Amino acid sequence: MDNKIYVTQPTLPNLDEFSELLKDIWERKWLTNNGVYHQEFERKLAEYLGVPFISLFSNGTLALVSALQVLNIKGEVITTPYSFVATTHALWWNNIKPVFVDIEPEFCNLDPAKIEAAITPKTTAILPVHVYGNPCNMNAIQDIADRYGLKVIYDAAHAFGVKENGKSILNFGDLSVLSFHATKVFNTIEGGAIVCHDENTKKRIDYLKNFGFENETTVIAPGINAKMNELQAAYGLLQLKTVEDDILKRKEISEIYRNGLKEIKGIRFIDEPDNLYYNYAYFPIFIDEKEYGMSRDALYEKLKDNNIFGRRYFYPLISQFPTYKGLDSANPENLLVAHKVANEVICLPIYPDMTNDNLILIIKFIIKHNSRTT
Ligand SMILES: *Cc1c(COP(=O)(O)O)cnc(C)c1O
Repeated sequence: MDNKIYVTQPTLPNLDEFSELLKDIWERKWLTNNGVYHQEFERKLAEYLGVPFISLFSNGTLALVSALQVLNIKGEVITTPYSFVATTHALWWNNIKPVFVDIEPEFCNLDPAKIEAAITPKTTAILPVHVYGNPCNMNAIQDIADRYGLKVIYDAAHAFGVKENGKSILNFGDLSVLSFHATKVFNTIEGGAIVCHDENTKKRIDYLKNFGFENETTVIAPGINAKMNELQAAYGLLQLKTVEDDILKRKEISEIYRNGLKEIKGIRFIDEPDNLYYNYAYFPIFIDEKEYGMSRDALYEKLKDNNIFGRRYFYPLISQFPTYKGLDSANPENLLVAHKVANEVICLPIYPDMTNDNLILIIKFIIKHNSRTT
């Protein structure tokens, strides 16, 4: 059987169209360092996302590392353990101490009510994540940041295109960081970006991703090499043409899941908030073992045995990895909600080209294993 269903499958641009752009690149022989397609992609991406300034990166992790450098963040930073490990690694690479704060159970985002208690004189910033693309409580977070003079950098790796009340959520905080990795809603194979509010900050970001070069002879800081190349930019330009359709297809799949699974006892989903243009990046379900009649891990393994490869995003918590486990804030008693959620979650397969047959197969499988179907 080769019908393996993975949690995601990337959308690729039309190969003939991509070949046309490659021919151009072969003729120009300008492969990286802000080429023609790179400039065009930045412009069109900013327009599509509804943001004033954006800088392209080779990946989301280096964009996160650089975002902290751009704002000269030091000391301690408040962040969430319920994320992909790169969120905290970006702090580690900047020699910053992560301070983990618990999440709220509804959207699995950093709980603003618990942030203040974690602030110390060394705290300089907050690094929240819009988990699954659902917006954090950005007003509450900004309010705390303003009162304590902290910067806010959003890890918006899941939040491509998400709008709240018609406004891009990427415009909140001081900076937002995107990932265009192959597994994300919008991919440039590998890739990422930083969104900022003003031209001077964009300049600084662009210097820092190119070794710190301001011009031929001036190096303003120890920057890194995190530039996106011309081939990825061309690929990204084509992806922009189809991303809206892709999101629409994800929405349809998400609705079929919701309808198919809603009667099952012991399975919870995240409610879609009002006034949101959502991207349907993930379809997480949360298993209540007693109600469902089987543990999350048992269901996860059973799905796998049947070629359905969901993922436990996010388990284990970042605070459980050896590098971070010893921190005071990594104590599980400090992170009760995050631990509970991490033990309940499975992200089910969702991607634009998923077939209806596979979707029905997954839903039936989950229904079949529930001992308490009403
Ligand atoms: C994917 C992801 C990243 C890392 O992005 P890369 O482009 O893979 O380096 C960072 N944070 C979160 C929350 C992610 O999901």
